[in-house]
This record gives sequence, C-alpha cells and structure tokens, in this order.
Amino acid sequence: MPSIVSPIHRRYVCKNRNRTLIFIHLNQTKFCSVEYIHLRDTVVNEGNTTNVGRLTILPSSYTGSPHHMHEYTQDAIAYVRHYGHPELFITFTCNPAWDDIQQLLLPGQLPVDRHDITVCVFRQKLKSLMDFMVKHEVFGSVRCWMYSVEWQKRGLPHAHMLIWLYNKITSNEIDNVICAEIPDANVDKDFHEIVMKNMIHGPCSTMNPNSPCMIDGKCSKQYPRALVSNTVTGNDGYPLYRRRSAEDGGKLATIQMRNDDIEVDNRWVVPYSPLLSKTYEAHINVEYCNSVKLIKYICKYVNKGSDMAVFGMQPERSDRNVVIHIDEIAQYQAGRYISSNEAVWRILSFPIHEQSPAVVHLAVHLENGQRVYFTVANVQ
Ligand SMILES: [Zn+2]
Repeated sequence: MPSIVSPIHRRYVCKNRNRTLIFIHLNQTKFCSVEYIHLRDTVVNEGNTTNVGRLTILPSSYTGSPHHMHEYTQDAIAYVRHYGHPELFITFTCNPAWDDIQQLLLPGQLPVDRHDITVCVFRQKLKSLMDFMVKHEVFGSVRCWMYSVEWQKRGLPHAHMLIWLYNKITSNEIDNVICAEIPDANVDKDFHEIVMKNMIHGPCSTMNPNSPCMIDGKCSKQYPRALVSNTVTGNDGYPLYRRRSAEDGGKLATIQMRNDDIEVDNRWVVPYSPLLSKTYEAHINVEYCNSVKLIKYICKYVNKGSDMAVFGMQPERSDRNVVIHIDEIAQYQAGRYISSNEAVWRILSFPIHEQSPAVVHLAVHLENGQRVYFTVANVQ
C-alpha cells in the first residue's frame, strides 16, 4: 500500500484504505440530509425521494475534511466579529537542529529518520509556546487564540497562530514586539546567530534564481524588501517594518551559500519577535495585522487544510442530460497527501487545531428550513 517515492521521505498515498472514509461512504443514506422544506416539497410534488440530496457527502465530523476546516474559518470570523481583528499572526516551524531532537537520535540517524521524535518535540514546543503567550502573557493578556498545524509536501510541521490581545498593540508599539533587522553581533552573539540561521529569507532573486520561492523571475514572498528607516502602517497589507540601511545604522552579515560568502542586509530579514526567537531558537515569523483585507485571507490561510497533488484527464461529455453525482469523498481522496510526519502526528492523536474560547455553532434557519436526517426507507 505505501508507495515509497524516495528512501528518505516516504509519502503514503491513501487510496480507498481509510476505514473511516469507507464507513462514511457505506453509510451515506444515514448522512442524507436536505433542508426539511425541500424534502417536503419533493415528496409532495413528485412522490419521489431518490434524487433528494443526491450527493456523497463528507461530513465536518471527519477531521481535516473541507467542511471541518471551513468550520474553523467560521470560528475565526466569529472571533473577529466579537473582538475585532487579531493582533498577531505567527508561523512557528519545527527546527530539526533543536538539542531536544539531536540528543535523542541514535548514531548515524538524521531527524528525517525519526518522525516520532520530531513530532513529539514539536508538540511539546508548540504547547510551551502557547503557554508562554497565553499563561505568561508575554505580549499582554490574551483574549482569544487559535492555531492550526500543517505540513509542507515533504516537510516538517509548522503551526499558524492567531492571537487576539485585550490591549491592542498600537502602531507606535510595533517595534517593541516585532523586529525585521539583523541584531548586532557585538551586543549578543548568540542571538545574532539564531536570527542568521533561522530568520533570513533565501537569498533568492538574482543571487539564486533557482530558489523555490521564485515564480516567473520574481520572489513570491516579495523579497528583498524595501529598506525603510521607520515602521510604516496604514496600507492594506502588512506594515512596512523598520529595516535600516547600512548608512542608517543597519547591520550587515555574511552567510554561506554553496561555498560562497554572501553579504546580506536587513532587506532579507523575515519579521520576528526577539523574545520568541531567543526562547525557542526556531523559524518564528511574527506579523502584525491591522488591515481588514488581511483578516479574511489569514483566517482562511490558517485553516486551509491538507495539501493536494492531483491532475486528471476526462473524456468530454456529449450527453447533456447526465445526472451529476457530486462525490465529496472521492474529491477529498483524489490526490490527498499525507506525509509520514503528518501520519505519525495523527497516529499519536495530537490535535491539528486548537482554539479558545469554544465557539458553539447554532443551527439558525428560516421557518421549516431545519435540517432533517432521513433515509429513503423512513420517508415513504
Ligand atoms: Zn524569495
């Protein structure tokens, strides 16, 4: 069953093997539902229920399904309606060089050989990071929060988090929380090294045109960024964080790329929180959000669900009257992609999403618009 693509990164392609999905597929009649009024109309007018709710549905109770992730997006929007926009959007990535991981490896092993270790350590660090912000209130009291864990195609896990604070961060205070500059190595050498190792983007562009972030000759993450002497907010995107030029007092540093020494300046620094980076020694991108346009994008992005890799070919349909049968399970399984790291996370029953406070979904409906659950047998 597992198709091994490369000896290092084993990708497991789940195809018709997942017992829960088979159960859902075989019990579709139990999941059949339409709004009561539509069902009643059909029964009264046509006396025929076979075409009502003619869908194969994948309910939101299935973890990671599109309906399930969509509910989280709705929850995020519910937070926004009550508490306004989130203050911080944080991306926390697992660092295979952590001592906690390296010390547990047996001689000759690499972190990619031991997903059990990387997964458990990342889970502990993630809990610790959330406690650091929520219980120890390093950025102030937290009103609500949510995070989702996801995996890149072959990669280690990362978590996207949204944090709402009681006391909003004002534009004058951004520089106290978020930094996008190279720290002075003479002041704190260790911190300088952490930032150089984890928070420098690329380099891409002309220095490295084959970097994965390059699309149509441009960096998809918009690096190198502009040098500005002061943080600027007010446009629709993220703020322009302070990135001072060398003449303005900004620091330069050299990094190694393919045995070449490359000099980088503040244009390549991914925005980070000095406090979090120093404490967790990992790639932790911290962004301040205040634009309304960003919120919807971020809420969706945080809960976008698992990756897909799919392409297909279909003969052109000449029969226009064919009954379209939408099969959400087949759509979900087509190209569904679970990396071995994600598989271990799920086997250990670690959550892919947590939030606080809880959001209760109310089934609001118009008169006779309530959802009813039926089978073909009990309607007739
Ligand atoms: Zn780039």
